[in-house]
Amino acid sequence: MIKAVRGTKDIFGEDVRRLQRVEEIIRLTCDSFGFNEMRTPIFEETALFVRGVGEGTDIVQKEMYTFRTKGETSVTLRPEGTAPVVRAFIEHGIYSQPQPTKIYYIISCFRYEKPQAGRQRQFHQFGTEILGVSSPMADAEIISIAHHVLEKLGVKSVKLYINNLGTKESRAAYLKVLAAYFREGEGELCETCKTRLNSNTLRILDCKAEPCSKLADNAPSILDSMDDDGREYFGKLKNILTSMGIAFEVNDRIVRGLDYYTRTVFEFVSDSIGAQGTVCGGGRYDNMIAELGGPDMSGIGFGMGMERLMLAMDPNCVALSGRTDIFIGYIGGAGMYEAQGLVYRLRTRGIHAESDSAERSVKAQLKYANKLGARYSAIIGDDEAASRVLKIKNMETGEATDVEFDGIVNFLYPQGAPFFERMLHGAVSDTKEEA
Ligand code: ATP
Ligand code: MG
Repeated sequence: MIKAVRGTKDIFGEDVRRLQRVEEIIRLTCDSFGFNEMRTPIFEETALFVRGVGEGTDIVQKEMYTFRTKGETSVTLRPEGTAPVVRAFIEHGIYSQPQPTKIYYIISCFRYEKPQAGRQRQFHQFGTEILGVSSPMADAEIISIAHHVLEKLGVKSVKLYINNLGTKESRAAYLKVLAAYFREGEGELCETCKTRLNSNTLRILDCKAEPCSKLADNAPSILDSMDDDGREYFGKLKNILTSMGIAFEVNDRIVRGLDYYTRTVFEFVSDSIGAQGTVCGGGRYDNMIAELGGPDMSGIGFGMGMERLMLAMDPNCVALSGRTDIFIGYIGGAGMYEAQGLVYRLRTRGIHAESDSAERSVKAQLKYANKLGARYSAIIGDDEAASRVLKIKNMETGEATDVEFDGIVNFLYPQGAPFFERMLHGAVSDTKEEA
């Protein structure tokens, strides 16, 4: 038997319905925050990620799915969403339009990692980016949309940590101090961090191995090497977050795994989903756009892991669709034809109607209706076909009501047409129209 590849998952049944709801909430939220979706290809030239994400990162060092096409080009399955958006921003000259550019995406990402709870090889990210402006207001805007999505989805015990990594210059000075500090205790570092000492010193602060984290506890703080500009920038961000009513904690150990971050970095961490607690991580990239051949512009964004979000959210806080509104069974030939026609017409009006397609007995049909969890059921026989009046039974209370065929939509949704209809027509349509 062929099984799904290690680290990948099929999503179906209730899980996919919950995921769909979450995605819808994310999309509607992005609408009201003024972010537009961008869809980029699933694979890119490898060089994009090597340059965009950074040579010294875990992603580029060991996590990329890279292969050669028939034309011998080296391509990589997208491990993250920022570099492709920046490439598109440059390639299509979007930077020459009025700024900022506000983008969001919900994508599959691929990383060769050790699969465990909240860590897969194909996983999904909701991400946002604000490109083209460099200001703490954009940083707060990005943080606020993540905060709002987490709040709306009932993610409990989540904390927002913020830090400031300074500019390329002030950070270079700090890295010297930090490297000198870790070099003194080099013998105690884990093997990975020994190599990080030369390639990605900052990342040692983030290492979960005990000797490293112990050593990191007393490391000099990056906040102490911030220049006046940085201090003012960070101060403004904190003030804006406070005025938005968003609680945060300054944490100078938040460094993020990617090379390109400057100034603001942040993480939303939940302590209710185990070791992989970072639900969302992001930060500002002042150099990446120029690094990838674009103008000297800056951006900020985050990636939110959908799998971790699904683990951390309150599963009851979204209504699951897929519930059958009405089951319409039948007895006899005329009833069967009438039932199929009625079900079709109701479906075109946005009602989830079902019938029996296996020509079962009435008793078996109603059993099936029960199994579907239908809200209402009705049976069409010769009489109903002739009178065009149905006896509609409430499956929960057993109460029966006579309803004319063309009053069914109104009976099921007295407050107006279902959501689907409103999306098509933009308004509540006339429910008196023939069903
Ligand atoms: P981690 O430290 O957990 O490996 P990261 O720093 O590599 O995370 P980012 O590259 O910032 O993560 O990605 C943003 C978010 O995407 C993470 O906070 C997490 O929620 C999610 N994520 C990252 N890698 C995976 C994965 N392999 N499986 C599931 N979700 C992931
Ligand atoms: Mg990682």
